[in-house]
Amino acid sequence: MGTCAVPASVDGGTGPLTVDDAMVLALAEATAAAALGDVPVGAVALVDGMVVAARHNEREQRGNPTAHAEILALADAAVVLGTWRLSEVTLVVTLEPCPMCAGALVAARAGRLVFGAADPKAGACGSLYNLCADPRLNHELPVTAGVRADESAALLTDFFDARRKTVT
Ligand SMILES: [Zn+2]
Repeated sequence: MGTCAVPASVDGGTGPLTVDDAMVLALAEATAAAALGDVPVGAVALVDGMVVAARHNEREQRGNPTAHAEILALADAAVVLGTWRLSEVTLVVTLEPCPMCAGALVAARAGRLVFGAADPKAGACGSLYNLCADPRLNHELPVTAGVRADESAALLTDFFDARRKTVT
């Protein structure tokens, strides 16, 4: 797998990406976020195994509380696809989405969610809530959890350990 900045494409001769391939890209995005002082979370939007968006958390960089990786990737995907309705999109994200991002997946009518580490403190896709599978809402989507979860969790642990060291 190459660098995260240049998403692989079906036309590039590498063939469609698996969700595991996409998670490697999402982890690279997360690493880029950490380098900019943002909590390392990355998200990749796939359509038929082709990357249509790859973003990372930019909350600190933008000073914007809604600049989570998932929100940015969904917005990019909507521009690329020319529609807000993202039923063809599989979103691959390193960390279990929060309530805002899970809500955005439902609002986008997203096709599928794949995430890495569970988030017991804020996760809304199985941990605290299950917004992607709530029949009271107007859309449900299949969720796959635990893809490269250890790598995702290690990025977060390293980030917060380093931050604690600089504060004290
Ligand atoms: Zn979020």
